[in-house]
Amino acid sequence: MDFGFSEREDLLRKTIREYAEKEIPPRMKAMEETGSFPKDLLPGMAKMGILGVIVDPAYGGAGLGHLARIIMLEELGRVCPAIPMALQVHGMATYALGIWGNDDQKKRHLPRLTSGEGLGVVAVTDPSGGSDVAGMQTSARLEGDKYILNGRKCFITNSHVSDFWIVIARTGEGGKGLSAFIVDKDAPGAELGREENKVGLRGANTGELAFTNCEVARENLLGEEGQGMGIAIQDIVNCGRPGMTSVALGILGSVLAEAVKFAQERTAYGKPISKLQQIQVYLADIYSDLEIARLLGYRVGWMLDQGMRVDAESALAKSFACEAAARSARKAIEIHGSYGVMHEYPVQRLLRDALVTIPAGGTAEIAKIVLARQAMSVAG
Ligand SMILES: Cc1cc2nc3c(=O)[nH]c(=O)nc-3n(C[C@H](O)[C@H](O)[C@H](O)COP(=O)(O)OP(=O)(O)OC[C@H]3O[C@@H](n4cnc5c(N)ncnc54)[C@H](O)[C@@H]3O)c2cc1C
Repeated sequence: MDFGFSEREDLLRKTIREYAEKEIPPRMKAMEETGSFPKDLLPGMAKMGILGVIVDPAYGGAGLGHLARIIMLEELGRVCPAIPMALQVHGMATYALGIWGNDDQKKRHLPRLTSGEGLGVVAVTDPSGGSDVAGMQTSARLEGDKYILNGRKCFITNSHVSDFWIVIARTGEGGKGLSAFIVDKDAPGAELGREENKVGLRGANTGELAFTNCEVARENLLGEEGQGMGIAIQDIVNCGRPGMTSVALGILGSVLAEAVKFAQERTAYGKPISKLQQIQVYLADIYSDLEIARLLGYRVGWMLDQGMRVDAESALAKSFACEAAARSARKAIEIHGSYGVMHEYPVQRLLRDALVTIPAGGTAEIAKIVLARQAMSVAG
């Protein structure tokens, strides 16, 4: 086993860290206030290969792979977790097109995503419930050479900052009756719904999409009819959960840095509070959560790059890292005393950001179902 990073990965981390520390902080106040993603960052991110990190170079990508993607998103997230939240769903769109798109679809759509024209969208969740994917109600009916879509999608990342969306809709009965479509935002009958006002990850746009007799050309079917469930689930497992793990890693890194800084600067009883044993226990807990989450997250990236299945590993990394980010942010707030609940200190935002990661990409309860299945299969 090799737990070291390659020189290329170390350099990538350093380059992204420098970029993030320079470019993102000046935009964070506006992101927090308006809840908008800073689209002006996209051309620079495109040049650095961030937007096409897992895309084949033949279609304008950097082709660096999944571990590189996790490192990139983690480093961006150390500065501002809303940025990798938006980019992780963008990555899911590039992944879906790369795996299930035909050559024409890849040529038409991937360069739009890697060049920074807009961010990618994968719309699975219906208002009827995100966990019950097979029960979704958004429908698509084939009429001549067009599909007619009806229904709504909610909690969709990048909904209002994208020019086209990958939408899962029902073309038949049950889980086998779902299909994936590439829907242009200007398609007749497609509409943007409300933008959500989230408590955290505010700079990542989340909103609704609505379809009323929306016309989608038959050639915009992604993969085969009936493959929608597989596309949605595999995209979540291989890209969405590793992406959300990276967002949580970013939060954990930032939580640890803020907690240590405050504990070393704040004095009580004539010495820094970092000398108090209970404060050290908090610091040790946060550090442990970060290190364990990193090992779980990097393992998933490495396994994906080896072409291995990661169903259980990705659910474990995601659910552990997101819960760890929330409990560690709570501990960092305790270390800050009353300063922890003042807007001037970032730890309150980090807790809000961490809470938002928990349902996104699949809830903790759904991850437990995957993990229980794995437990019974390895023990049985
Ligand atoms: C910031 C953010 C970004 C998001 N981005 C996207 C996106 O880009 N695309 C997209 O399609 N969706 C997106 N989502 C939606 C997200 O995937 C869903 O919210 C999530 O899957 C949960 O669905 P729900 O909110 O409808 O809750 P429900 O599915 O209604 O669940 C409610 C509760 O019941 C529990 N539950 C459900 N089923 C079971 C079960 N079988 N056993 C035990 N407990 C169960 C859940 O765990 C939860 O506690 C995003 C959500 C957030 C918060």
